[in-house]
Amino acid sequence: MTETVAKETLGFQAEVKQLLHLMIHSLYSHKEIFLRELISNASDAADKLRFEALSDPALFENAAELKIKVSVDKEAKTITVRDNGIGMNRQEVIEHIGTIAKSGTKEFFSKLSGDQKKDTQLIGQFGVGFYSSFIVADRVTLTTRRAGLTQEHGVRWESEGAGEYTLETVEKVERGTEIVLHLKDDEAEFLDDWRVKSVIREYSDHIAIPVEFTDEKGEAEAVNRANALWARPKSDITEDEYKAFYKHVGHDYEDPLAWVHVKVEGRQDYTALLYLPAHAPFDLWDRDVKTGVKLYVKRVFIMEDAKKLMPAYLRFIRGVIDAADLPLNVSREILQETRDMEMIRNGCVRKTLDLLDEIAENRKEEYPKDAYAKVWEHFGKVLKEGVGEDPANKERIAKLLRFRSTQAEKETDVESVSLADYLGRMKEGQDKIYYLTADTLAAAKSSPHLEVFRKKGVEVLLLTDRVDEWVVSNLFEFDGKSLVSVARGQVDLAAIATEGEEAAELAKSAAKSEEEARPFLERLKKSLEGRTKDARASARLVDSPACLVADEGDMNANLARMLKQMGQAAPETQPILEVNLGHPLLKRMESEEGERFDELAGLLLDQAVLLDGGQLSDPAGFVKRVNGLLFG
Ligand code: ADP
Repeated sequence: MTETVAKETLGFQAEVKQLLHLMIHSLYSHKEIFLRELISNASDAADKLRFEALSDPALFENAAELKIKVSVDKEAKTITVRDNGIGMNRQEVIEHIGTIAKSGTKEFFSKLSGDQKKDTQLIGQFGVGFYSSFIVADRVTLTTRRAGLTQEHGVRWESEGAGEYTLETVEKVERGTEIVLHLKDDEAEFLDDWRVKSVIREYSDHIAIPVEFTDEKGEAEAVNRANALWARPKSDITEDEYKAFYKHVGHDYEDPLAWVHVKVEGRQDYTALLYLPAHAPFDLWDRDVKTGVKLYVKRVFIMEDAKKLMPAYLRFIRGVIDAADLPLNVSREILQETRDMEMIRNGCVRKTLDLLDEIAENRKEEYPKDAYAKVWEHFGKVLKEGVGEDPANKERIAKLLRFRSTQAEKETDVESVSLADYLGRMKEGQDKIYYLTADTLAAAKSSPHLEVFRKKGVEVLLLTDRVDEWVVSNLFEFDGKSLVSVARGQVDLAAIATEGEEAAELAKSAAKSEEEARPFLERLKKSLEGRTKDARASARLVDSPACLVADEGDMNANLARMLKQMGQAAPETQPILEVNLGHPLLKRMESEEGERFDELAGLLLDQAVLLDGGQLSDPAGFVKRVNGLLFG
């Protein structure tokens, strides 16, 4: 890297320009958040320095006391935020302050609602905080020097927030970053000591290092409490403090739904403060996100990596873990593999599941009645991954699952049925939990596989998320009852007490007619050779003429289709065609022969494929056959 001493002018990346334009022209409310963002960046910079200094104490340059200083100059109309954290070198300034690398920007713009209040609050969440300076300033000067570089390697960045910024190499004595905001004429409120102090107090009480305000006489005053909130005794922390801290660690503007704060003493002493957000973060489905839970060792920030500190199925949890006994000077890689770290991780998973249980079971009055419904709405799809990901906690996670079902109160529109609800509603003699997987809710609801279950009043869970296939391929039973697909193998509901005589008859007549119909079924099977494994009389159909079922042990069609869509190999299995011998279409077929019989048999199978959510291998042939029937 060659370094130029001369001043150079560089253009902002297009996204940054767009963002700046927005800051300057459209955000008018909650302007004071710029201060929160700058202080938050300064605090992160201090964390980073402390971490790097673990392996290279010289970075402290004999000034290990970390601090953030805010001051105003009424004459020059400036407000300045200064830190002695890690600082940035020239390249880092270009990368961090001239461009936005993260996928966040696009997302940020797509989330803008036009509602001032909400839009301003989004800023912190999407990692575009620095630019909020331009809400109140028409010129921003950032001077920084990275810890470890010599004094002549300071960098000055300056911009008026239009299309470009200048960069020059300057001398900077103190390491760290100083940001001077040249306030717009009508932003004089941020020159007022009292106003500035109250903003700092509101937003930075939980910041673990001192934030000082220096007045024009040069007198410094500590404004925040400056100790790690999680390290204080629980009884000493107010609700509001907990919430404010969440907003800081969770980069969220809304209050959290709930939290747990525990001090664990044992083989490993640690403190965990874990929050359950009230809504899903925008990057819930981004596999690479690292934000989430921060790890500290004796208050020193070590790393932030959602996946290493929490399993992927709990990646929406935010907070901090502070371990007392882990070695400080150990690398991030080694740290995450130690047994001790694993113990802490397991403990935190248990605490999180406890918290979810508590909400699901409405054990505390402070949770609104529909709290768990909200949790499920936002995080259900992610939690479901846990059934396969965390075998040790499978039962516990299964208890937290919610499904749609044929007997859900709000008729299947939201997932609200727990497995315990299901067990409580089982019919006398029923010993299995039945489910159906399908592509869409509409397909599930109208599936012929449900007919006899409906008739007998046996509840069936309707699974329509992609991840549901993964759930049922990992969850074989709950509370001693096995989970069984209604679209696989034989159904035997004979032992279940029936509501109408009709239903009892149905099972009997199916058995009887199977015998009588053998020759017909053989003909059918032969006619459809190569497309089905077998043709048999159905015990599950009431109104429909036919349906497809997977053989015991075969993969079901929905899962096979899903795997293919994802470009993965799925075993080529043929389904079994089950027919409703009492249906007029079947009755009529019995007297047909030859080509006509084959045509009807093909049609029967095609119908069953369509009802199953599958695609016809020969759609033109299907249309021809239907038309042949209509006009023939
Ligand atoms: P975010 O802080 O969410 O990443 P920002 O736009 O506020 O987004 O900051 C962009 C980046 O600039 C930060 O990630 C950090 O690398 C760098 N940065 C900002 N402020 C400072 C600072 N005071 N000291 C060191 N680096 C900083």
